[in-house]
Amino acid sequence: MSDLSTYIRTVPDFPKEGIGFKDITTLLKNGPALKQTIEVFADQYKDAVPEKVVGIESRGFIFGTVLAYRWEVGFVPVRKPGKLPAAINYEEYQLEYGSDRLEIHKDAISEGERVLIVDDLLATGGTAAAAVNLVESLGGHVQGLAFLIELGFLNGREKLLQHDVFSIINYDSE
Ligand code: AMP
Repeated sequence: MSDLSTYIRTVPDFPKEGIGFKDITTLLKNGPALKQTIEVFADQYKDAVPEKVVGIESRGFIFGTVLAYRWEVGFVPVRKPGKLPAAINYEEYQLEYGSDRLEIHKDAISEGERVLIVDDLLATGGTAAAAVNLVESLGGHVQGLAFLIELGFLNGREKLLQHDVFSIINYDSE
């Protein structure tokens, strides 16, 4: 087992000054590192496999769909505005850089369904909290949230206190 953090590239001042961007493409392009990442996620939920996986656009789609395939459960995309064609629910949220909103199809999740939310990175938690609200707006039960990376120094977990949060790599500082 290798230390997956060695595959993450920090790019200074992207997309704007002061942001240390965690580039995961350096992990994704490495076959064994990608496989290990999926194995770690799968192992974390092996005793309580979710009934649906929600992936947050766009890097949450990468890990989310692989996990859904592996567990043979459905995958639901939570998307940036204007991408989903049918009836939606939406949530406004704050980013580490800027603000945005997320959308989900109204028929994506059934009442009481156990849902795992997946994204590449937890920063301030605004994005993840919006995804939680979207799932709950449809009556879904958020079983947990899974991230490859957590920027612990931004305290995103504090926005997700009611929920089980799992991350593979944690950064204590920039
Ligand atoms: P937040 O809402 O602040 O938790 O931001 C999380 C979202 O923004 C995730 O979808 C990340 O992909 C992206 N993001 C925020 N900060 C960074 C960063 N430093 N490096 C890479 N992606 C980031």
